[in-house]
Amino acid sequence: MLRKTKTAILSLISAAVLCSCSQTAEPPKSDTAAYNRDVFAMDTYMSMKAYGENAEKALEDSEALILRLESELSVTDENSFIHKLNSSENGTAQVSDSAAEIIAKALEIGKKTDGALDITLYPLLKEWGFTTGDYKVPDKDVIDSILAGTGWENVSLSGNTVTIPEGYQVDLGALAKGYTSDSIISQMRTDGVDSAVVSLGGNVQALGEKPDGSAWRVSVRDPFAPDTDMCIVEVRDKAVITSGNYERFFTDDSGKSYWHILDPEDGCPADNGLVSVTIIGDSGLDCDALSTALFVMGKDKAVEYQRREGNFDMILVTDDKHILYTSGIDFTNISSMDAEVLSLD
Ligand code: AMP
Ligand code: MG
Repeated sequence: MLRKTKTAILSLISAAVLCSCSQTAEPPKSDTAAYNRDVFAMDTYMSMKAYGENAEKALEDSEALILRLESELSVTDENSFIHKLNSSENGTAQVSDSAAEIIAKALEIGKKTDGALDITLYPLLKEWGFTTGDYKVPDKDVIDSILAGTGWENVSLSGNTVTIPEGYQVDLGALAKGYTSDSIISQMRTDGVDSAVVSLGGNVQALGEKPDGSAWRVSVRDPFAPDTDMCIVEVRDKAVITSGNYERFFTDDSGKSYWHILDPEDGCPADNGLVSVTIIGDSGLDCDALSTALFVMGKDKAVEYQRREGNFDMILVTDDKHILYTSGIDFTNISSMDAEVLSLD
């Protein structure tokens, strides 16, 4: 029998921002007091903290935004655009602007990463049981036959019209939270907030800096002990987004673990030497797409990609317990692993 492991509780424990977040509490006494709001959506605990006189309205608006995006992007909600696409008879559907923007990014990063990011793996994720928690290790011939009906390059997007081949199913789980944190930050700006931080299941995005002028201190989990922190990064106006093998996994009788990020090459959990990838950059959507893709690609290709593209920082953790990070971040190691700066050549 397979031992099932869920990590929703871990998501709650490590909100990943080093500040306490709770439901909106006492009315703030000054402009710099914090307002907090917690929401459970997209199968994740989400915490938001905003400062200033416009914070309360911004949090209200942000909560409504999260719920709207969840209903548009969910792969399971029968009314979502993605569900409509996946169940449409001719493989074509009109999707919302949000879904179209995410799909465009997924295709762009799919191309740039030689298909490491592939939004058509949903039938395989179902077969492994990652969509239901009813886990199993499928037979290789079953994996191969499902894999034959996948491929990001067969998704076409024209304006808001998406077309997929018969039998294909799309899932935006690798990018949806990053898009959502981008959207919350821009909602906060629109509402007149200039200091805020959100954590969507440990994926953090910061607006501006703390009211006292200091940077946000964001913790990243130790993939070998996911209820403890591994390092702190200090950021202003950045997203800090992690993909890790500890986020959703199960273990078979022999003790081997299988996790939810699949390698489109063989349809099995991506096992290319990395156990966690954190991307730090300006756009939550880009960081989320890249955290998943670089996890799949493994260390050497991830480093090569970062050097080539150069517009983000990253923290990689290898399966033999080394931390590697790029020099553009303010990084403090608080783990017992060694941490090495990636050289630029
Ligand atoms: P993240 O936590 O952002 O790395 O996203 C993981 C989620 O993306 C999984 O739960 C799946 O829904 C989906 N997924 C898994 N493997 C891939 C892949 N290679 N490309 C795109 N999406 C994937
Ligand atoms: Mg991702």
